[in-house]
Amino acid sequence: MSQSIEILSKLVSFDTVSRNSNLDLVDWVVAYLADLGVECQTFKSPCGTKANMLATIGPDVPGGVVLSGHTDVVPVDDQIWATDPFELTQKGTRLYGRGSCDMKGFDAICLAKVPEMLKANLKTPIHLAFSYDEEVGLLGAIELAPRLAEILPDVKAILVGEPTEMKVVEQHKGFMYLKAVFEGIEAHSSMPYLGVSSNVAATKFMSALVAMDEEFAASKDNNSPFLPPHSTINIAVISGGTAGNIIPNKSVVDVSIRVMPEEDVNAIVGRITAEMDSIRSWMQDQDPACNAILDLDADTYGLRKEPDGQAATLCRRYSGDNSDNVVSYGTDGGVFQKAGFSVAICGPGSIDQAHKPDEFIEISQIEA
Ligand SMILES: [Zn+2]
Repeated sequence: MSQSIEILSKLVSFDTVSRNSNLDLVDWVVAYLADLGVECQTFKSPCGTKANMLATIGPDVPGGVVLSGHTDVVPVDDQIWATDPFELTQKGTRLYGRGSCDMKGFDAICLAKVPEMLKANLKTPIHLAFSYDEEVGLLGAIELAPRLAEILPDVKAILVGEPTEMKVVEQHKGFMYLKAVFEGIEAHSSMPYLGVSSNVAATKFMSALVAMDEEFAASKDNNSPFLPPHSTINIAVISGGTAGNIIPNKSVVDVSIRVMPEEDVNAIVGRITAEMDSIRSWMQDQDPACNAILDLDADTYGLRKEPDGQAATLCRRYSGDNSDNVVSYGTDGGVFQKAGFSVAICGPGSIDQAHKPDEFIEISQIEA
């Protein structure tokens, strides 16, 4: 078994679904690197149950590159797997396991290459930066990026090894998550004049979002490499109401928006906020005790094409890929770019396999 497969097998065995701690995995990586004489810095999450990790291989001089991976994986709940998702299983030319592709495969390759890096007499350092909670809002990278900017201000490029089948990706959409809560007044459904339906308020809100989504689609840029070539709104989870004869008093709508990297996010936020304001007024005109509350984070961390694209140039030199690629999913890369780094995405495995049951990576991708 190759060293990368052996390490991948170890990494997959840690159940680092984002809701769990990643500390056992980080401890294992720290010990593995310590055996090779490489020291790590770990940075605990605010809650203390998770950690980001940074290791430097090569000379202690400014510059160099960062290889960035995340340690968390998406859940396997309600998925039917043919094998144990937390035990790397080889079948034919594939290795199955949660995270094999997204993105412990890349993490394993980086770690397996450390002995070679140590022997290579590097002129500038290679830094390994592994984050937590990428899959749940890039939380680890949001903590890590300012630290990297402080510790490694002269780094030339950050390469994020998300699964792109080794294509060089210079742009991706950003991601915004919002929750809208509508507090109405409960009443018997035979006396609607005594209540204010939170479900009606939520429906007005969702109608506005659907109209906005259709507007995004209608104003698409046909020259854009993105598929679809516009921002998109997903009404993800709706809850509200208790019984057929009750005017409901609480409704919650969870929404996710994938934002084109060049889109004016503040304009979108402004429109959604205005919509909520108008619905709140409509509710409070009927009863001042009503409310409509919006919880929204305007940072979307899309990845924009860089004019001089240092990271992309470097990736192209190594991968040989010269095509212009974009992806519609988000990565830690947008966070690092916002912190001032040059960033490109390039890694083994295909996003088609990520997040699904029976996630796999081709052995050829991991041993290449
Ligand atoms: Zn990923």
